[in-house]
This record gives sequence, structure tokens and C-alpha cells, in this order.
Amino acid sequence: MTAQLIDGNALSKQLRAQVAADTVKLKAQGLTPGLAVVLVGDNQASQVYVRNKVKACEDAGLHSVLEKYELNMTEAELLARVEALNNDDSIHGILVQLPLPAHIDAQKVIEAISPAKDVDGFHIASAGALMTGMPGFWPCTPYGCMKMLESIGYQLKGKHAVVIGRSNIVGKPMALMLLQQNATVTICHSGTKDLKAMTLQADVIVAAVGKRNVLTADMVKPGAVVLDVGMNRNDEGKLCGDVDFDGVKEVASYITPVPGGVGPMTITMLLVNTLESAQRALSEKQHA
Ligand code: NAP
Repeated sequence: MTAQLIDGNALSKQLRAQVAADTVKLKAQGLTPGLAVVLVGDNQASQVYVRNKVKACEDAGLHSVLEKYELNMTEAELLARVEALNNDDSIHGILVQLPLPAHIDAQKVIEAISPAKDVDGFHIASAGALMTGMPGFWPCTPYGCMKMLESIGYQLKGKHAVVIGRSNIVGKPMALMLLQQNATVTICHSGTKDLKAMTLQADVIVAAVGKRNVLTADMVKPGAVVLDVGMNRNDEGKLCGDVDFDGVKEVASYITPVPGGVGPMTITMLLVNTLESAQRALSEKQHA
């Protein structure tokens, strides 16, 4: 079997066009969705990420603000900026790019963001909302994975999903989203005794580890759907995922590539969340 690709670039293009169309409608009602991206320090990778996020916003017609601060910004100064953005009516989403410098408590900063503007979905209130099935913002990467499954018409009810990785930003929320769609979910991590025994039972596998070749062809049931969240470098320095793509694509029914898979979907879902936040703000204003 040669798996069909789930093309994150193509799906992103569709979804971003929808965001752009909905943004035009909101603007006609007098509201422009706005995202503030805050970067502290000069981390090279973070600079690329924030540029891409701001550009994606601009391309879709959203208002975006990039606030860049020196490495020596204090925690109190950053908290004050977050508070100002919480009170800024032109901003519907606030994203503080991680990692933050070591002298700043990242969790404290995340908790300072108003849950109504937490478009990254990292606030404890967003995590609680996902856990309990209440409205809130879903973390963008696992949300993007769910959209990829939706794009192939995949029905999760009754299926067994195995998530490899249990981080707060990918693995755990991914597992909760799959559970919400009535999959039976297994979460694996570095303490899992026999990963292969788990993945061989899976109809859907999400790899979110950050290590090359965590998932190889002999670990995949024929016909399984494989989503690769990992971002690693191979020996030639090229971007690659956690999955041995060449081997696994011969066994799986669907697979996401790296690059061009989950990565672009993450930014797309940030736009979707920001648009949704703006729509909620407008609706609250109309019902006030
Ligand atoms: P993380 O916080 O480092 O979590 C990695 C998880 O993998 C941990 O739960 C860890 O287990 C588990 N793990 C480590 N070695 C393992 C092994 N041999 N077998 C099974 N599980 C193992 O990473 P993250 O933030 O979730 O990110 C994961 C990957 O996704 C990274 O490559 C990251 O760059 C990428 N990522 C991509 C996007 C995107 O947009 N494409 C977005 C976010 C992250 P323990 O909990 O036991 O340590």
C-alpha cells in the first residue's frame, strides 16, 4: 500500500481563504480581528515563527501587531504589556512566543493572558475547557491535526488512537480531542514499556515526540492513519518528522509529510482561533 498524503499546505490554503472571507464579513460589521504577537529576546527560530505568524495574519486580512523586546525585559514589564493587550479592544488574540528567557516564569505569563484572548490555548482555563467540553480555545497544533482527520472524512468513533507524547501543548490536548470524538485513546510517553505493541493496535497514530524514526513501518498496522507532529533535522540538516516517512507510507492508508503537513496547519489554526475570538467579541458587544 502507498499511503495518500494529507497535504497541510493545501488544506491550510483552503482554511485561510475561509478565514479571509469571514474577516471581510466582520470588517463590514466594523470589527477587524487583531492578533498581538509578543517576542522577548533574539532566539533565531522564534524570530522566524513570529514573522510567519504575522505574515499569515496580514495575508488573511487580519490586523496584527508584533511586539519585540530585548532579552533583558523583566517579568513585571512583560506582565504589564500582557495586561495592556488584555485591555486593548483592537486585539482579540494574544500570543507570547515560547520559549521565554529563563528569568521569566512562562506559566505565570500565560496565566496573565485573558482566557478570552488565549488563541494559543495554553491557559489553564483553556485546558480546563477542553477537558470538560466547554467552549474555549484549542491548542493550535492538535486542533490542526483534528482538521486534517476531518479533511479526509475520518470517523473516529470506535477507532483506537495512539498518541505518542504527552506534552501540555500537543500530546495531552490531542488525546482529549480524539476522546471527544469518541475514539478509544492510548497515550504513550518515554516510560511506555512496549511502544510497538501499542502502535500496532492503532487505527490512528499521532507522533509528537521530537525524535527521528520513533515510528517505523514495523510498528504500524496496515491501513492506519499516521499524523507526524515532530520537527527534527536529519543528517543532511533537512527538516523531518518523528516518522520514518518512506517506510511507513508503504503501510499506512494516510500520512502527513514533514515539511508541509502539521506545521502549516498550526499557524492556520491560530488564525481560525483569532477570528473566532473576534466573532465572540462582536457577538458579546451586540448582546450587551
Ligand atoms: P516535548 O514537550 O518535548 O514532549 C515530548 C514527548 O515525547 C514527551 O511526553 C516525552 O515523554 C515523549 N517521548 C520522548 N521520547 C519518547 C520515546 N522514545 N517514546 C515515546 N515517547 C517519548 O515536545 P512537544 O512540545 O510536545 O513537541 C513534540 C514535537 O513536535 C517536537 O519535535 C516539536 O518540535 C514538534 N512540534 C511541532 C509543531 C508543529 O507546528 N508542527 C508544534 C509543536 C511541536 P515524557 O513526558 O515521558 O518525557
